[in-house]
Amino acid sequence: MRIEQDIKLDFKDVLIRPKRSTLASRREVDIKRRYTFKWSGREYHGVPIIAANMDGVGTFSMAKAFVADGNGLTAALVKHYEVDELVDFYTENGSDNVWYSIGVTERDVEKLDRFLAKTDGKLDKLCIDVANGYSEPFADFVKRMRDKLPETTIMAGNVVTGEMVEELVLGGADVVKVGIGPGSVCTTRKMTGVGYPQLSAVIECADAAHGLKGFVCADGGCTVPGDLAKAFGAGADFVMLGGMLAGHEQSETEVVEIDGKKFLEFYGMSSSTAMNKHAGGVAEYRASEGKTVHIPYRGPIEPTLQDVLGGIRSACTYVGAVELKELSKRTTFVRVTQQINNVFGSS
Ligand code: 5GP
Repeated sequence: MRIEQDIKLDFKDVLIRPKRSTLASRREVDIKRRYTFKWSGREYHGVPIIAANMDGVGTFSMAKAFVADGNGLTAALVKHYEVDELVDFYTENGSDNVWYSIGVTERDVEKLDRFLAKTDGKLDKLCIDVANGYSEPFADFVKRMRDKLPETTIMAGNVVTGEMVEELVLGGADVVKVGIGPGSVCTTRKMTGVGYPQLSAVIECADAAHGLKGFVCADGGCTVPGDLAKAFGAGADFVMLGGMLAGHEQSETEVVEIDGKKFLEFYGMSSSTAMNKHAGGVAEYRASEGKTVHIPYRGPIEPTLQDVLGGIRSACTYVGAVELKELSKRTTFVRVTQQINNVFGSS
């Protein structure tokens, strides 16, 4: 047994220190980023925020809202759409704003093959998603997909430490997804005691990936726009959101009324709710259970997006970053014991 003594940090443990700058307004800030992926060679240009492949979040409706929004956000589509539905979606909306999500089962591969048979073997972006990115079969699977799809941008995860990021990047991942346990409806830490504070995971993993020309996606744990600013400040190239994008019109989920108020069900993809819905389809998806919650219905996604993008733009002006690209270079984190004043409640 060993104990690592240096303190690892979460978003709530830090704030970003303001810096002198010449920026007059947040309108001057460009929060799109331009990436060329190591393996696929493809280019990406947009606000690097990804809707998680969760029911109520990674939906066609969400992806369509991103297409309409025009800022280049992307959605990792939930795994249970049928091949024909996927093909129709891609035909109508293009592939710029979506990741095709896949697990590591043969069923997943067989479905992907049926999809590829209808698209002349073409796929822009693939998200390979498992609960535990530390298993050897997972790393082998990433290599197998890289060989099979040399021109597809591959995002794979989840892991939280540099050595595993390196292995995945070297094995064919263009983007490594970082986060074990921080999610809003995740119970991994409770059930297994396993995890890693998300801010430190992002800092360490980004460093490992960037050394190899790979990218990282900070996945899970963002609760407010400021957390995205911290994730980008910590070196994340993409940030994936579940809970922050849940509860909207785009969720493709039934709205229920409780005591005259509107709610939506939201759940982890390995919760019993998800298991029951997609019987057999997601059992292997997360190592431990997720929870099911009812969240207030929030209406259309557009005002939420405006809030999130506005928060990031404003963070950039506070540190004098003209582009999001500069944010991490201009970020100094201050460790804090209190972050937010909740005297009038936590919202
Ligand atoms: P959030 O933005 O809601 O904090 O986190 C979203 C992330 O939580 C997802 O992208 C995914 O990585 C993770 N997640 C989703 N469902 C589950 C689940 O049932 N169990 C666990 N452990 N993680 C989940």
